Amino acid sequence: MSVKMLGVPYDVHSSFLRGPAAAPQAVRDALTCGSANWCTESGLDLEPLRDESWFDLGDLVIPDHAPSAVGMIRNEVTAAIADGSRILSIGGDHLVTWPIVQAVSAVHDDITIVHFDAHPDLYDELDGDRYSHACPFARIMEEGRVARLLQFGIRTMTPHQRDQADRFGVEVHELRDWDYRIPELSGPVYISIDVDALDPAFAPGISHNEPGGMTTRQLLDSLYQIDASGVPVVGADVVEINPSRDVNDQTAMVGAKLIRELLGMMIGKELVQ
Ligand code: MN
Ligand code: MN
Repeated sequence: MSVKMLGVPYDVHSSFLRGPAAAPQAVRDALTCGSANWCTESGLDLEPLRDESWFDLGDLVIPDHAPSAVGMIRNEVTAAIADGSRILSIGGDHLVTWPIVQAVSAVHDDITIVHFDAHPDLYDELDGDRYSHACPFARIMEEGRVARLLQFGIRTMTPHQRDQADRFGVEVHELRDWDYRIPELSGPVYISIDVDALDPAFAPGISHNEPGGMTTRQLLDSLYQIDASGVPVVGADVVEINPSRDVNDQTAMVGAKLIRELLGMMIGKELVQ
C-alpha cells in the first residue's frame, strides 16, 4: 500500500494570523535535518521505503481565491489517490482538510474522521467567511459523505458550535472530560491533526495559543490506539503549524514526528471493507 505525501501551503483564510503556508517546507526541513532517524517508534525504517512504499509529491502551488484553491486541492488529491494510494498532507491551515476529505470520501464510502484540535472548527461562518479555517468540519458534514466525525482535544466550545455539533451528530470528546481512550472504530479512517490540540508548551509554533492541551505523548498514544485497532487509515493531515511563531523548530519537529508515525501506520495496513 503506497502513501503519497503532499504539501498543501494555503493559509489565506486563517482568521487571526497567517503563517501555516510555510509549514510544509519547515516540516520537510525537520524531517531531513539529520538530528533524527527515519524509524517509527515501532521500528519501521521509512528511509529505504522512500520511492517504494511512500512518495513525496512536493508542494502544490495554490491560488489565493478560496473557491479556486478548494477546487484545485480536491483535484490534485483526487489525481494522487487514483491509483489506490493513500494521501498524507502537510498543511496549510485547517481549511485544506475540506477538499482533501472531498477527494478521499469520493473514493472511500463511509469514512470515519478522527480529528484532534483545540477547536471544533464547526462554525457555519466566521466574520462572514465560510472558507475560514474555523469552518471546514461544518462544510464536510454538510456534504454528508462522512459516516462519523470524532473530535478529541477540544477546549474552546461555543454555544453556536455546540449547536452545530448536535446538528451534525459530531462525537465531541472535550478535553476536560476525555479519558484519552479512542472509542471503537470501523474503517476506513481519516486522521486530521491540528497541532494546537497539543498544549502550547509542546508546540508553540501555532497561530492560536490555547493553554491546557494534550501532551505530545498523549497524542502519539492516541494514534497508536488507532493503529492497534487494525482499522485502515486511508488519509491523514497535519495542519496549523505556524513556523513564524515557532521556537527552536520545536513544532516543526513535532510535525515531522507525526508525519513519520502516520506514514508507518498508513503503509502497514491493507484496506478491508
Ligand atoms: Mn483546526
Ligand atoms: Mn485549532
